[in-house]
Amino acid sequence: MCAARLVRHIERVFVDKSIPTSASEGIALGVRKFAAVRRKRQSGAPVLPESLRSHIAFAVTLTLTRRPVLYFDHNATHPLSETAKRAWLDAVEKFPANPSSPHRAGQRADAALQNARRRLAVLLGCGADEIVFTSGATESANAVMAQFEDVAVSAIEHPCVIESVRGKSARLLPSAATGVVALPDFSERTPHLVALMAANNETGVLQPWRETLAVCREHGVKFFCDAAQWIGRMPAAGLGACDFVSGCAHKFGGPQGVGFLKCPANFPPLLRGGPQEEGRRAGTENVAGVLAMVAALEEREAAIRDGALDARLKWREEFERQFTAALPGARVLGASAARLWNTVSVIMPETADCRRRWVVVMDRLGFAVSTGSACASGKEKPSHVLTAMGVSPQDAGRALRFSAGWGTTREDWRALLDGVKAAAREMGVALA
Ligand code: PLP
Repeated sequence: MCAARLVRHIERVFVDKSIPTSASEGIALGVRKFAAVRRKRQSGAPVLPESLRSHIAFAVTLTLTRRPVLYFDHNATHPLSETAKRAWLDAVEKFPANPSSPHRAGQRADAALQNARRRLAVLLGCGADEIVFTSGATESANAVMAQFEDVAVSAIEHPCVIESVRGKSARLLPSAATGVVALPDFSERTPHLVALMAANNETGVLQPWRETLAVCREHGVKFFCDAAQWIGRMPAAGLGACDFVSGCAHKFGGPQGVGFLKCPANFPPLLRGGPQEEGRRAGTENVAGVLAMVAALEEREAAIRDGALDARLKWREEFERQFTAALPGARVLGASAARLWNTVSVIMPETADCRRRWVVVMDRLGFAVSTGSACASGKEKPSHVLTAMGVSPQDAGRALRFSAGWGTTREDWRALLDGVKAAAREMGVALA
């Protein structure tokens, strides 16, 4: 039986306020309520409340396809966009050669690569000779951090930055409880490099990277901005003014395993070997990946210019309002700060059994969401980001991150709210 017919079948027999988590559960409930349905039919009352249709559809699709139905984990990775897929397929057909090869096929691949470099540079507002293509934001950040000994990094940086300062003279720039990092104060010591991300991956809180850049400029300090979560979601313009900028394609619909670093034309390589990327990064370039990345980014930039963010921000805000109203004891992290339009990080209400994890219950209900950290009583350590914001290990253990993508609709946000409520009921949490 196809999903649509099964949904209709369940709808015909199902009338209950509870939310089924599988088709069989829905059918069982429906059968039990068969007599009630008949009575309702005879009286002319509507058999199935409209709001239950989507729950049933989720449950059925989940059971039939055995995969997450609603994906709210785009900060981890965004599915490949159609534009990126087309650009990638086009590139592997048209430019199969190595861009370093001397023959015409190689030169064609190189020309396509240089064209993509120029287009990315225009979006960032920097010179094409300042762009190095890499395998992603981790490699880009590692390349920067490897060059500096005396550094100041924000306490909420991604591990690709935090882990690469181990053993160095590193100062942490603290975060306020809002998730916003303080501007650097160089009154005691002036480091060689300051690293501050543009937007935090766990909370979505936007960071004062422009102001931090200005302070660094005043003191002759280099500034590195990890823009992995910003780029492709917020305008890229202006980032090119930073000394170093990193980004990766898979956060905005490009392929995984490709990214870039904006750096000076004479920057020393992290990966040594061939003379690719003007000696700044050895290894054959991922031509198709780069072309797909730039195509995806151009599409996102066009959408941003067309005002696509306003509605998306409203959907997120609507979700937050209804979420906090429905779940007493839950809270949104960084609620008072400016945040990415796609990210909501929350602390879920306390439950009697802390071993049951919200993320697992949500997954079973058909929602792919993420968590910054595990239960504090478990083995995993609480997230350093939440810790820096003053969140206790106990609360951090109930953190969930919902991150939407470009394809997420208002209805998806509403369905997510229903999913959260269903999870709360399963976890024995009272709803308002
Ligand atoms: N920086 C930030 C802020 C991120 O969110 C991520 C990925 O989650 C990275 C860097 C690393 O990106 P990649 O895994 O593509 O190297």
